[in-house]
Amino acid sequence: MSDVLLLNFTYEPLGIVDLARAVRMLFARKVEIVHRGDREIRTTSVAFPLPSVVRLLYFVKRHRKKVALTKKNVLLRDKYTCAYCGTHSGREMTVDHVIPRSRGGRSVWENLVASCSTCNARKGDRTPDEARMPLRRVPREPRFIPWVVVRRHTAPDEWVKYLALYSVGIEERVS
Ligand SMILES: [Zn+2]
Repeated sequence: MSDVLLLNFTYEPLGIVDLARAVRMLFARKVEIVHRGDREIRTTSVAFPLPSVVRLLYFVKRHRKKVALTKKNVLLRDKYTCAYCGTHSGREMTVDHVIPRSRGGRSVWENLVASCSTCNARKGDRTPDEARMPLRRVPREPRFIPWVVVRRHTAPDEWVKYLALYSVGIEERVS
């Protein structure tokens, strides 16, 4: 893997940059190496370790994008965990309208939750009150695109602790 995880001054992940850019930033003294990768550049006299995680030496303000309202992003926001029973599952997870569409419920962040297919079928065309299936959390619009969650499975080990921190951040901001 030739990608490098770029962290903000605060250690919040900002994105993934290619190695060439990371090395340029290093030489420009814009970043420091937080974690060295396995590989190195060798010249005849010196070996220079290549970074896997770098951190900016100054703080950049993240520009916030609107998160697209898609089924996948609702599932990501909810971490593939059923809003009714708490089951966690990558597959079999559906998106449920809390107030059913047939009852005037709209397709908005605040009315959509991840739901396992069992709960979704059980709830049917009822509200949580009617079905006696209270929500385990209040759905809100997320403020960040949780892109790192998507990448997480393919990320090197040393990235994971920063990405995990970031995920916690998302959850805090969501609730
Ligand atoms: Zn469920």
